[in-house]
Amino acid sequence: MTTKGDAGAVAPASESYYVAHQKIYPREVSGRFQRLRTAAVWILLGLYYLLPWINLHCRQSVLFDLRARQFYIFEMVLWPQDFIFLTWLLVLAGLSLFFFTAVAGRLWCAYACPQTVWTEVFLWLERLAEGGRARRLKLDAAPWSASKLARKGGKQLLWITFALWTGFTFVGYFSPIRDLGLRVLQFELGPWETFWSLFYGFATYGNAGLLREQVCKYMCPYARFQGAMFDKDTLIITYDAGRGEPRGARRRGADAKATGLGDCVDCRACVQVCPTGIDIRKGLQYECIACAACVDACDEVMDRVGMPRGLVRYTTQHALDHKTTHVLRPRIIVYGSLLALLFVGFIVALALRKPVGLDVIRDRNALYRLLDDGRIENVYTVKILNKSERAHEFTLTVHGDGEYSIDPLVPRYSVAPGSVYPAILRVRRPAWGSVSGSGTIRFEVVAEDDPRIHAAHEARFLAPAQ
Ligand code: SF4
Ligand code: SF4
Repeated sequence: MTTKGDAGAVAPASESYYVAHQKIYPREVSGRFQRLRTAAVWILLGLYYLLPWINLHCRQSVLFDLRARQFYIFEMVLWPQDFIFLTWLLVLAGLSLFFFTAVAGRLWCAYACPQTVWTEVFLWLERLAEGGRARRLKLDAAPWSASKLARKGGKQLLWITFALWTGFTFVGYFSPIRDLGLRVLQFELGPWETFWSLFYGFATYGNAGLLREQVCKYMCPYARFQGAMFDKDTLIITYDAGRGEPRGARRRGADAKATGLGDCVDCRACVQVCPTGIDIRKGLQYECIACAACVDACDEVMDRVGMPRGLVRYTTQHALDHKTTHVLRPRIIVYGSLLALLFVGFIVALALRKPVGLDVIRDRNALYRLLDDGRIENVYTVKILNKSERAHEFTLTVHGDGEYSIDPLVPRYSVAPGSVYPAILRVRRPAWGSVSGSGTIRFEVVAEDDPRIHAAHEARFLAPAQ
């Protein structure tokens, strides 16, 4: 009996499409790329865990206050009206991913992806509790004993504590973290804060502790489509088969030429350090996250056997084929130019962003009112948004074709930092003046202490047709 696969290939019924998961025990590695990865872990996780504890202007420096609909990012306060910047930032991030992938392959996966970064820490905690690769293999194969229980339990304790701290920090970006910490100590955490702390902690534990390389292999969409951004000039990690083959073990100091062997001593160090469990000598595989652990491992071996480094290295397909590598090519120029344009636009738009916003809504219950003194009156709801970090006194004026007057006569509003001031304003115009019918009027607010802080809004003034 036979079965048909997705691709239409006929497979014997006994052949299973399900491959049982094999636990990977990556060996510890040292070297220049490992040092780079460690530095990335310290910097990125250091920022993640420390940022919410840093205060600025008596408030948390980075806080996404969903309830107040305000995002605080250092000196900047973003309002719902500013969400274009967030969209802009996401587009920039997406384009950067395209650009850097086309130039240097899976840089993101290797050094900055949260999955890689947190997995490094979970691996480190695992080594702390259970020891290096050989000891872990032995421990897993050994029957349960008090010592095995203590080591496995110790690892779980470290993992769970770290995961919970991660979940707590995540919620600390949305709810002031110092207050949150106090409430955790007093067991007074709200239901949503509890849920998200546990959820994010559990997700970290599951992804970085249990699933690890399976997230990259089977769950990450980027791993699937990044191949489409590669070309023969993209930097990849590869094994130099021309130099390494035929591979084989040899006696120390033996002349490789005389034995007819290539430079690969078939020690499998590159396989043992691989966090996704692949053999780079089989060529570029989508499972490879370009972490360069195999580069460090092979360099160490080459140093030991007295051969030049770089049997496994960062290179391009063109370089391997002894052709010229082109750094500047059409897709790099297009991605690079777009990225530069968007980045400059983002910085300029941020710099020109106004610290005050003005919103004017005409009272929709009445078109207009004819007053006893013969004037026409329209009523508006005015909202002044003080997006800055200081309180300001704002003066409001109204301009348009005709003699407009307002009530209150000199509208002054004191608006606290990061708040909205709603006010009712009556605008009047003589019915007998030089202007007749409806028209457009312009509302303007100016901060009394700094005329550069101003905003304007146009609205319709309705009047009977003459
Ligand atoms: S093959 Fe090398 S670069 Fe790729 S994931 Fe494995 S160790 Fe990292
Ligand atoms: S580490 Fe280098 S020498 Fe050892 S098996 Fe891998 S490629 Fe060959």
